[in-house]
Amino acid sequence: MDFIQKHFTQIQFAATFGGILVFMLVESFSARTSGQGQSVLRWLNNLGLAWLNFVIFLYFAYFLHVVGLAAWLTPVEPLYTRYALPTWLMVLLTLVFLELLSYWFHRAMHRVPFLWRIHAVHHNDTQLDVTTSHRHHPFEGMLYMLISLPLFLWLGVPLGVAYLYFALRLAVVLVSHADIRLPEQLDRKLSLLLVTPGFHYSHHLSEQRYTDSNYGTVVPWFDYLFGTASYLPQAKLNTQQVGLNYLRTSTDSRIDRLLALPLIFRKD
Ligand SMILES: [Zn+2]
Repeated sequence: MDFIQKHFTQIQFAATFGGILVFMLVESFSARTSGQGQSVLRWLNNLGLAWLNFVIFLYFAYFLHVVGLAAWLTPVEPLYTRYALPTWLMVLLTLVFLELLSYWFHRAMHRVPFLWRIHAVHHNDTQLDVTTSHRHHPFEGMLYMLISLPLFLWLGVPLGVAYLYFALRLAVVLVSHADIRLPEQLDRKLSLLLVTPGFHYSHHLSEQRYTDSNYGTVVPWFDYLFGTASYLPQAKLNTQQVGLNYLRTSTDSRIDRLLALPLIFRKD
């Protein structure tokens, strides 16, 4: 545990960009889209945002540490400490609480107009592959840190459990965006437990009713619970358009335009 804590930045960097690299290699063999129209420029824009998000995460985390937000927010007796819970239960509860928060955060990003201007950066990618997984406006990551930190502190999540959750989250996010196709029956069954490539693909379709579905990040449980799950057969997915009906030109996906999108957003 000390090793992870001491080398957290390097491990996070290796996991994020190593993971992207591994899946880019896998995609070159088993891409859903057969590599059609892949653009190096698109990859560079997405990877540029991934790198920027990584750097901003480090500085923002340091900023929160310096201003002492954690010390100020930590309750006298966090939930896990109060009830001396076993590790397996802390892992499960952390997954449930954090995913419930992620679910409503994601729904709010789609529902509130200003938040959609930020989240549209993730959705106006006209193709879906592993590089889309880290294509987010930096404001989104900062907002998520600000709302998830109090929950981590209120629960009193031990460092080991937090690392486990983040590792699972990263793995599922990479797999669910990757341009790979699992056997349909396997994907469908697995999508009751975890967010799969087939399940998440619908969320990136341009048709509004599908864009506004499947909000889960790691688990799809709350989509089933709150009635926002949709599972489309592979044959139908293959005929659908990815991205948004607007903001579809290559200029719209240039990194400077993506960073400015909350200010220059348009729907024509
Ligand atoms: Zn979304």
